[in-house]
This record gives sequence, structure tokens and C-alpha cells, in this order.
Amino acid sequence: MGLVERLNSSPFPKKHGVSFCSFDGRQSQTFTFADRESSSAAQTWQVLRSEFDQLLWNTAHSHGAECRERTRVTRLLGDQYGVQGAVIQDAEGNLAEIQAQVVVDATGQHSLVGEKLGLPVTEHSPERSALWGYYENAYRDAGQDAATTHIFRSRDRRQWFWYVPLRDNVVSVGVVGAADHLLQGRGRPATVFEEELVECPIVLERLVDARLLGELRASGPLQSISRPGAGPGWVLVGDALATLDPVFCSGVSLALRSGELAADAIVAALSHQQATAAELGQFFARLSARAAAHPSPERGLLQSAVQLPLVFRRPS
Ligand SMILES: Cc1cc2nc3c(=O)[nH]c(=O)nc-3n(C[C@H](O)[C@H](O)[C@H](O)COP(=O)(O)OP(=O)(O)OC[C@H]3O[C@@H](n4cnc5c(N)ncnc54)[C@H](O)[C@@H]3O)c2cc1C
Repeated sequence: MGLVERLNSSPFPKKHGVSFCSFDGRQSQTFTFADRESSSAAQTWQVLRSEFDQLLWNTAHSHGAECRERTRVTRLLGDQYGVQGAVIQDAEGNLAEIQAQVVVDATGQHSLVGEKLGLPVTEHSPERSALWGYYENAYRDAGQDAATTHIFRSRDRRQWFWYVPLRDNVVSVGVVGAADHLLQGRGRPATVFEEELVECPIVLERLVDARLLGELRASGPLQSISRPGAGPGWVLVGDALATLDPVFCSGVSLALRSGELAADAIVAALSHQQATAAELGQFFARLSARAAAHPSPERGLLQSAVQLPLVFRRPS
């Protein structure tokens, strides 16, 4: 759809790898994507989500999608045997019904379809939280590593930091830890962040000349979860389908890939008027097979998710 060309001519830094490093920087291991992947997919981008999402939106619009901003889905149409559309509400409060042969739920970890249909959720990790901020003038590596993502473990190995170089001399720095450790009873986020930085001196060193832009941010609970991927008249993609721990930095990639494969399954299903759980669910098996073919952190999660039953089968 021309996205890769647009990304190539964008100012987003080109990312060639990830490095994992101990709290003091003495031990580190860098994974350069090109060592494992010979195609152009060996290079990706460090994007600003707001700009990247706008690019996706504009591209969908220019390819003929009817896009509605500031509009939310309030209700699903259908019965216990299948979804047949949705009720939407615009910013002025106007409601409208949209009939659809297939509803794609891309509403993120809380999954509107999952909530409305009461889909089972499989939890793959304990709850964690993150604190993060954007820093100007933080240390940047040189050359091909200038946009490498760094993952640093804290001294006691219970927390980890991400260090993601973005454009305009900005670096995103965040710490992830158990929700009760990071966010409960420790005061302001800035204080907690400073205390955590002391446990990871290599990050502290990289921030010596840096300036925090705006406020530090705190996430809600982060947890690796998965849900059944399809049922009659609906599919889940992205975080609604499976949410990964951010240490893998692969949530956006998985969201795009699941969307792409789900679209193929929907086109195939509709070509013979079969928007059934089994037809639509085929994308899910393909997604899992791809994850299995390329061993990655997604593999275990997707494979266990794919074993979940497809729900709400229409009685034959
Ligand atoms: C702290 C943190 C750090 C991360 N770091 C990375 C990283 O470095 N790299 C990476 O690839 N991933 C990262 N991720 C994961 C990544 O953010 C997600 O995997 C990704 O955003 C999933 O995309 P999505 O479109 O499925 O869901 P979301 O990005 O959550 O988008 C869902 C959208 O649906 C909308 N929505 C929800 N309900 C409704 C409704 N009823 N009606 C209409 N719209 C609705 C929401 O407003 C939102 O815009 C990180 C996540 C966290 C929490």
C-alpha cells in the first residue's frame, strides 16, 4: 500500500537491531537483524506512534476506506451466535447502526468484542507496570547503532529499562516492573523513576546531559494475554487478540501482521459467503505458523492462544 516507501522517506530513524545489557553495561549482547534475516525486513523504524498511526489512517483513507474520526463503537449488533455489525457514536453524540458481515476488533488490550461476548482471556504473565519519559539530548550510539533499542536489566534483575532512540534527538526511556513494586506507596512517578535509575547506573550515565520533556508517564497494568481469534462475524487483531510484554518491542508488528492475515481470511471467507468461525479463524493458524517458522518471543504466546477453542459456533 506504499507504506514502506513512505516510511523510507520519513525522518523516522532506521533500526537495525536490539541490544540486551546488564545494569552496569559490562555484559551486553546485540542482535543485528541482518544476521538472521536477509530481506529488507532486516531493517525497521523507530516511529512516533501518533505520526505512524496518522500515516496508517491516511493510507487507509486514500485506498478507499471510509474513516470516521472521534467516533466510538458503543454496542455490537447480533445475537449469541454471531456479530452482525456495530452501533457507533460520533463526537456530537449521534448514534448510527452499521451492518457488517465481519467486524474486526482492533480496540486494543481491553477488546470490545472480548468484553461484549465475554470471551475467555488466557493470562501468560503476571501484571506489570511501566513508567517512562521522553528525554532530549540523551546519549546516542554512533553509526548503524544510532537507532538500536537497548534493554537494560536493573541490578537486582527484577526491573528492566527500555532505551529507544527516536528522531529529533529524543530518546524514550522507561522502566518496567511488578505493578505493586513500581506504583504502590512510593510517591510521585518522578521520585520512583529516580530511585529505579540508581539501580541501573548505565541508564543514569546515558541521561547525564539529558532533559526530560514534559512529564513522566505511568501505564496501567501490562500483562501478556490472549483471546480466541475469531467467531462467526468477528475477528480480533492486534492487542485485542494477543498482548505481549513490551520487552519484545513487537506489539505493533504483531498488530500489523494479524491485521494483514485477518484481511486475507475475511476476503476468502466472503468470497464464498462463509463468515464462520472456522473460515475466519484460518488467519489465526497462519499467524501462529509464521511465528513458529521464525522463532521469536511471540511464538509460545501465539501457539498457546491458537489452541483456545473458537467460541460461539452456530449449531449445524
Ligand atoms: C509501555 C508500553 C511500551 C510499548 N512499547 C512498544 C514498542 O516499543 N514497540 C512495539 O511494537 N510495541 C510496544 N508496545 C505495544 C504496543 O503499544 C501495542 O502492541 C500496540 O499499540 C497494539 O496496537 P493495537 O492497534 O492493537 O491497539 P491500540 O494501540 O491499543 O489501539 C486501540 C485503539 O482502539 C481504540 N478503541 C478502543 N475502544 C474503542 C471503541 N469502543 N470504539 C472505537 N475505538 C476504540 C483506542 O482508542 C485505540 O486507538 C508497548 C506497550 C506499552 C504499554
